[in-house]
Amino acid sequence: MATSTPAPGPDQRPGDGGGELHAQALSVSRQDRAALLGQTPRVLWLTGLSGAGKSTIANAVCERLHRQGRISYLLDGDHLRGGLSRDLGFSEADRKEQIRRVAEVARLMVDAGLIVLTALISPFRADRALARDRFAPGEFLEVFVDVPLAVAEARDPKRLYAKARAGTLASFTGIGSRYEPPTTPELHLRTDEETVDVCVARVLALLDRPPTAGR
Ligand code: ADP
Repeated sequence: MATSTPAPGPDQRPGDGGGELHAQALSVSRQDRAALLGQTPRVLWLTGLSGAGKSTIANAVCERLHRQGRISYLLDGDHLRGGLSRDLGFSEADRKEQIRRVAEVARLMVDAGLIVLTALISPFRADRALARDRFAPGEFLEVFVDVPLAVAEARDPKRLYAKARAGTLASFTGIGSRYEPPTTPELHLRTDEETVDVCVARVLALLDRPPTAGR
């Protein structure tokens, strides 16, 4: 274990606790856990339209990492809405809260030493920026899973575009609600031009790049 002062844990950063909470200094640091697992914890934040390929790519990346002996975890928006975010809908405020919660869970998991993938539409730039702010520089990797709306709509794997066009699904991203594309993502995938395998390889290459302090 490290003999130096333990690095701050996820809830020991300035601004947390309002000065009234006195957190126990922890003897096992995030560096200790990462060293034990032999990996560099990061979050890969996949953003894009419904049907762009976020879940498909994230799942395949997790599978590859697992086979390589690296511990990862996928936080998939559709799954989380059955539990952690069961009380949330799709208003702008609820989407913001969904992203806040997922960012906090991802932060804990990164602190635990895991490689975390999130698969959420996360349509608004400001919300993604807030999520990024919760991580150390170089730890948050934004992956834009890009596809033209017409292609996503033609795929419609969950039949959600059909419902949105029929007017039975309000505030659906791309139809009744806007999607703000990232301006400077760490990685830009075009799933109408690149196969799943190519996209997965590019995500893995990004992960294996040495962490950079900034963008
Ligand atoms: P999302 O999670 O972004 O809503 P999904 O992964 O659930 O999207 O669905 C994407 C659909 O597009 C899947 O049926 C997948 O097989 C298909 N697809 C076709 N080409 C690609 C690609 N290059 N990358 C990812 N998915 C693709």
